[in-house]
Amino acid sequence: MERDYLTNLLPLHLFLREADKILKNNPDCRYAVTATDLSNFKYINDLYGMAEGNRTIQEMAEKFFSGNPRCILASRPYADQFRSLIAIGDVSQDEEVAIITNMNTEFTEYIQKRYPNIYFHVYTGLYIIEDNSEGIRSACDKAHFAKKCFKGNLSVTCGIFDSNAYKDSSNVMRLTHEFQSARERDSVYVYYQPKCSASTGEFIGAEALGRIADKDGNIISPGEFIPVLERTGIIGDFDDIIMEKTFADIRRWIDNGGNVKPVSLNISRIQFLKPGLIDKILALQKKYDIPSRLIELEITETTFIESVDFIDDTARELRRHGFTIDVDDFGSGYSSLSLIATLPADTIKLDCSFARQCLDNDKGVILLSGIINILRSIGFDIICEGIETERERQRIMELGCDKIQGYYYDRPMPSSSFEEKYITKQ
Ligand code: C2E
Ligand code: CA
Ligand code: CA
Repeated sequence: MERDYLTNLLPLHLFLREADKILKNNPDCRYAVTATDLSNFKYINDLYGMAEGNRTIQEMAEKFFSGNPRCILASRPYADQFRSLIAIGDVSQDEEVAIITNMNTEFTEYIQKRYPNIYFHVYTGLYIIEDNSEGIRSACDKAHFAKKCFKGNLSVTCGIFDSNAYKDSSNVMRLTHEFQSARERDSVYVYYQPKCSASTGEFIGAEALGRIADKDGNIISPGEFIPVLERTGIIGDFDDIIMEKTFADIRRWIDNGGNVKPVSLNISRIQFLKPGLIDKILALQKKYDIPSRLIELEITETTFIESVDFIDDTARELRRHGFTIDVDDFGSGYSSLSLIATLPADTIKLDCSFARQCLDNDKGVILLSGIINILRSIGFDIICEGIETERERQRIMELGCDKIQGYYYDRPMPSSSFEEKYITKQ
């Protein structure tokens, strides 16, 4: 069988093939997969020469794999990177970590003595296979992932696979990919949800809410992808698309002589951190020739509170240009009434879960009524989100809030349906 010229270990493709056979033929045996490498290995080559580098690799192979009776198969995919399949028998996860930690420490001390000018650390990611039918490729990916997660942490030399972190990271990759491909297919859409007067039911505005569709046309919920796009920073690209499409829709509605009302856009924190937000909005306004009074910008309460000065300046500037600023999700975080009082904003959007919770009991109703009165006397306009039932509409109206957004009137809907139902003059 073909072998690695330096270590006599299997090349990766044969390792994978043979390991899969073993897993398949021994469904009841317990195995673990490791991914190991030596940090700063390349400096051996640089400082002591290639021959010393090769020698180190051979010694690693011998110590951890060919000379290790528990190791069944191993491979060196490249450089100082190794993968191995170990039969662990009844050894527990903690014991396995201890065994590997021991070996790694021994080897580090040994190699450190020989090349004192380099700082070494052996890293091993460990994945214990739970079900042998999983296959070796997936097991290797998980061992590699385990290693990546703690690499750079000098107090650990063997890290175990964490399935939650892995799911999280696969989810980030999947949704990032989903967004990128939706963008290429022009499958990023704006949905609109109407805002209405609680007393008359009259249509008074709308919120633009972003959606992406997968390749089969299924809509992915923003609750799922927005937090991921926020974490990776790609939310900025998403918001740019939503913003431009919204401006374009408004232009079309005006051109068609429709009943056009202000539309609010969600601006994420990251949009403020990138330079040029104001210029971007002004450029779109010019391109589509949209009056400022038709554009509202929603900034969450948390964004405002976490980075007050910075956001404040931008919000002030946007207001100077005639745009309305809404404080979104008020009541969902640690609302600070003293801070809210000084925010450069025009409208407070009461968070749906907060409002609903309050409407649920007598004390909550008193609290909500008080808050609405205070905010109103400071000069804010107020809108309540998430109104679902006739009873909620009635109560919130009695408390002095006449603007409502919620399923009671309509769910967010595609631009074309929204245009037909609310914009086109009958
Ligand atoms: P949000 O800004 O608080 O938007 C309102 C959300 O409440 C929407 O969820 C809407 O569908 C939902 N909602 C409206 N009425 C009701 C109701 O009566 N009951 C209940 N239970 N929910 C109601 P959606 O569209 O799923 O959006 C979720 C969040 O995702 C938004 O919360 C917003 O924070 C974010 N988001 C959505 N589109 C965008 C976008 O284009 N850019 C950015 N940055 N964030 C967005
Ligand atoms: Ca919003
Ligand atoms: Ca909201």
